Amino acid sequence: MSWEANVRKVTPYVAGEQPKGQGVIKLNTNESPYPPAPGVARVLREYDAAMLRKYPDSETEPLRSELAAYYGVEREQVFVGVGSDDVLAMAFLTFFNHPSLPVLFPDITYSFYDVWAELFRIPYQVQALDEQFHIKEEDYRKPNGGVIIPNPNAPTGELAPVSMFERILRANPDVVVIVDEAYIDFGGESCLKLIDQYENLLVVRTFSKSRALAGIRIGYAFGSKKLIRYLQDAKYSFNSYTMNSITLTAGVEAVRDDSYFREITDKVIATRERSKKELAALGFSFTDSKSNFIFAAHEKYRAKELFDALRAHHIYVRHWDKPRIENYLRISIGTDAEMNTLFAFLKEYIGA
Ligand code: PMP
Repeated sequence: MSWEANVRKVTPYVAGEQPKGQGVIKLNTNESPYPPAPGVARVLREYDAAMLRKYPDSETEPLRSELAAYYGVEREQVFVGVGSDDVLAMAFLTFFNHPSLPVLFPDITYSFYDVWAELFRIPYQVQALDEQFHIKEEDYRKPNGGVIIPNPNAPTGELAPVSMFERILRANPDVVVIVDEAYIDFGGESCLKLIDQYENLLVVRTFSKSRALAGIRIGYAFGSKKLIRYLQDAKYSFNSYTMNSITLTAGVEAVRDDSYFREITDKVIATRERSKKELAALGFSFTDSKSNFIFAAHEKYRAKELFDALRAHHIYVRHWDKPRIENYLRISIGTDAEMNTLFAFLKEYIGA
């Protein structure tokens, strides 16, 4: 018997590459191409390091109240974590606790869901999207131990209507339904309005994309007070002080500066819509993304070939060697200048 027999073995999530060096065009991890709100830089500059002597607020204040006020909910309906990955991991641990019934999520989706399910020994069953990469809502009407769906979905960028989630919620009163809204700020309609009506709905969001703060690690969630209480209880049983005080202070500034938030999300949306036209002219087809990326396949060129050619020219996009999506590239929306470099390269490579 080796000690290794007792090890919890996991196949970890593989994040997008973080290439070092200058001159790289990084369109592979859905980060914002713009800096965070100017107030964030100011509070970081002015932060009194002497404050770090003390533990941070275990209730994640002042960020929790700021988010509650901004979104018009009560603070007891808000949970804050270290990126939405932390919030989602905690939610899997807390809510997906059925001994045998599987948690349901799409076959093409955020590739961390099955990793958490494996890590926590949660049974799960993937539900195939249809040929157009739409969610088949009837798949979420069978007995299950919970449901998680991103909206817009990733990496497809497909937005499902709130009415679909309402029907899924009505069909699933006995389990927790999680809507992962990592990309909702780029033109989607949120399920947030449903939290007072459905006690079992958790809506998860992040500062990593639309608030341009992937590096600081802030995720948050909305739900009924009861649901959020359960999540807090699990968090306090794991690590009471997940959010550091610098992050809690800086995050507040990102929420307060609403006009900057709107400005950068509008810019990403405008560049995305222009990019759709450019990519279509180059022979790509794609879903009608409502996120900060486009999931595109070319009519003649294999995705892997394009991925390698782009990478050799220091343009990084994302490619998965997985069934059904191996011929797609996920291209994050960069600045207009970055996208122009991408289109110019593709034009030359493809000869369009
Ligand atoms: N959900 C989805 C659907 C994502 O694509 C991502 C980004 N990788 C996350 C959650 C996690 O983002 P973060 O931990 O940076 O908030």
